[in-house]
Amino acid sequence: MNVFTIFGDPVSHSRSPLMHNAVFKTLGIDACYTRTHLTDGSQLRNVFMAKALSGANVTVPHKETAYLQCDEVRGIAATIKAVNTLVLEKGRLIGYNTDAEGFVRAIESFGPLTSALILGAGGTARALSIALRARGIEASVLNRSRARLEYFQNEGIASYAWDDFLPAPYDMIINTTSAGLSDNELPLPAPLLDAILSRARCAVDVIYGKETPFLREVKAHELPYKDGSDMLLQQGVLANRLFLRDLVSLDEIEGPMKRSFLL
Ligand code: NDP
Repeated sequence: MNVFTIFGDPVSHSRSPLMHNAVFKTLGIDACYTRTHLTDGSQLRNVFMAKALSGANVTVPHKETAYLQCDEVRGIAATIKAVNTLVLEKGRLIGYNTDAEGFVRAIESFGPLTSALILGAGGTARALSIALRARGIEASVLNRSRARLEYFQNEGIASYAWDDFLPAPYDMIINTTSAGLSDNELPLPAPLLDAILSRARCAVDVIYGKETPFLREVKAHELPYKDGSDMLLQQGVLANRLFLRDLVSLDEIEGPMKRSFLL
């Protein structure tokens, strides 16, 4: 039996086991997907090998260290420098980033977009800015502090801290900060948020499973919006196809994975 897991700290809340096991069960695949609570990220590769895993997902806060422990990093993950999916291939650990492509698939229903403002400058902001740029959508980044902006400056992505930002029109506003995850905070001071939402066409919060203060503001502006559920689904669909070595279509995976959200 092939064994997969999700590494994270915390990890008990993760929906990934439910999502991936639903696919394995529906498609009759002899595999199971577990959770692994990992506090010391430097042990990720050792634990992966000791458990004789076939593949894994990686969540907060280990995506950057996972990137460093791969034998090979493929696709957009090499630019993002963060890995959320690992596959063992002929004894070598191969890293991918399906968060980025998953987000792009999740926003297809909004139709064509030309610009996006990403709130936050962490790993998710990096993934989304690179993926949007690869799709021809001009991405800018706005963060409360300056320290994390260097990555974007090096990538040639416009990036601002709150105190040097002048509101401009953007098609889509994306919250990738953790504001609202376990508190009641907005990702930006209210007047600044109001100024950008007033000129936007749509919005996404990558947090899922709750109505954040950001989404409440988006609703007050009557904008089309999504929370992070579709991104979660799509990154999982893409990861599962990598686990199954591209032998199964995305549609065959998406059906059972989507139904697992109703459980
Ligand atoms: P990071 O810790 O790498 O980055 C967090 C960012 O949020 C930083 O830029 C930080 O700013 C900013 N921030 C934190 N608190 C506040 C606040 N109160 N006000 C304003 N800014 C704040 O996190 P990740 O990028 O890894 O994850 C971010 C979010 O994305 C999490 O909520 C996570 O759950 C979600 N996520 C969802 C996914 C999905 O599939 N739906 C996939 C991946 C992530 P500063 O630099 O100033 O500290």
